[in-house]
Amino acid sequence: MSQSESVTMEKIVALCKRRGFVFPGSEIYGGLAGVFDFGPNGVELLNNLKRAWWKANVYDKENYYGLDAGMFKNPRVWDASGHTSGFSDPLADCRECNTRIRVDKELAAIGIQADEKMSEAEINKLFDEQRENIPCPKCGKKNFTPARAFNLLVKSNLGDFTSEGGEPVYLPGEACQGIYLNYKNVVDSMSPKLPFGLVQINKAFRNEISPRNFLFRTREMEQADTQLFVKPHENKSAFEQIKQDRMNWYLSIGIKPKNLRFKQHENLVFYASDAWDIEYNFPSLGFDELEGIHDRTDYDLKQHMEFSGVDLTYLDPETNERYIPWILETSVGMGRMFLAVLADAYHEEEMGDGIRTVLKLRPDLAPYRVAVSPLLKNKPELVAKAREVFLMLKKEFGNVAWDDNGNVGKRYRRQDEIGTPYCIVIDFDTLGENPDLLDTVTVRHRDTGDQERVNIIELVNKLK
Ligand code: ATP
Repeated sequence: MSQSESVTMEKIVALCKRRGFVFPGSEIYGGLAGVFDFGPNGVELLNNLKRAWWKANVYDKENYYGLDAGMFKNPRVWDASGHTSGFSDPLADCRECNTRIRVDKELAAIGIQADEKMSEAEINKLFDEQRENIPCPKCGKKNFTPARAFNLLVKSNLGDFTSEGGEPVYLPGEACQGIYLNYKNVVDSMSPKLPFGLVQINKAFRNEISPRNFLFRTREMEQADTQLFVKPHENKSAFEQIKQDRMNWYLSIGIKPKNLRFKQHENLVFYASDAWDIEYNFPSLGFDELEGIHDRTDYDLKQHMEFSGVDLTYLDPETNERYIPWILETSVGMGRMFLAVLADAYHEEEMGDGIRTVLKLRPDLAPYRVAVSPLLKNKPELVAKAREVFLMLKKEFGNVAWDDNGNVGKRYRRQDEIGTPYCIVIDFDTLGENPDLLDTVTVRHRDTGDQERVNIIELVNKLK
């Protein structure tokens, strides 16, 4: 069986629960569909991924700036973005058995790509052309109602004291609006020259009709976005560069090339000039969208300029011209990134007398850099020495695990499943039982299971 066949979503979900990566949200109350909680190991992997993404998109670049916008926004923002009128899942009901389908997903399944930001009329045109090819998944008939747009925005009553809740403030349907809203503030405060990028990781909420496939489709999510502001019509080569950069980044964090691919959108929303997805071969799901890369022309700033009445043009310091910059966007859900990285690192392989599960994560992404344990936990002299090593490494690396549960073999298996790249064991030789090995420890390597003897004073450099 190939690696990708042996990794199922079920196994990933089970590992995430067993090893404290991800738990179902509100589990003791029976859960809440489409919401998950990151546990102690999950939050470390998630934060390491965010740090790596931030480094690649802010620190390793020039003229890119970070932001962290408030989640709630003036409701007019969502009118300008088109979300109150158009941000929707197109749903149709089977007239024979009342089964409800998502028309864009059924179209995608037969190779017709529809954009979820299309109008009802645009989607229905594609749907009508393909009705003969889309049978009801339950009864097999082809007698559907027209597609109706089901709005995905989540409402809140923030600051709304009317008893009817008639003035809802929405939770963000996408994180990028926080960037567009602050474009002028950044231009005024930082005086960036075009092209410049604004970058943000922020929460988004969608009333997904059927949240499923674990972290792949949730109702609460976090999106990591970059928006590059460029001169009008100077989009093509920058767009190509961004596409390649983003693909290379996934490869650099250890995702296997065979599990990644590009897919170009066939049917674009009216304002977009080009749109691509980076797809990942998700377990039990196959290739599907990991990240969207969109050439959005001047649509976003134009809309906000019209709806707010505020001048959002950019004064070119070289030519003294005023124009609305065009925007090139990348957007990835942190949950989908987390799932892709975890699934790609997941391996089951023979070791010793059994099959082990191991997460071969890039060492700087793993929840723990290293685990330290005394050979026996009931020998105070071993425990004292192990704690000394543990505290020394903790001071250096921070994320160091103390593991004295069960025997050493069980500890290795547990740390393999968490993805800890190195396990250090303090034994009687460390204490000088064999004088040649005084002050040395066993370092066991996650990926090979190989062990070596290392002097304590060399440990920090060796692990670095
Ligand atoms: P899909 O077609 O799968 O619904 P989308 O095209 O609506 O995704 P975008 O609006 O482009 O997605 O959002 C950007 C990114 O946010 C996606 O590439 C994906 O990684 C993530 N994302 C979108 N919706 C969800 C969701 N419901 N759960 C988790 N991540 C999501």
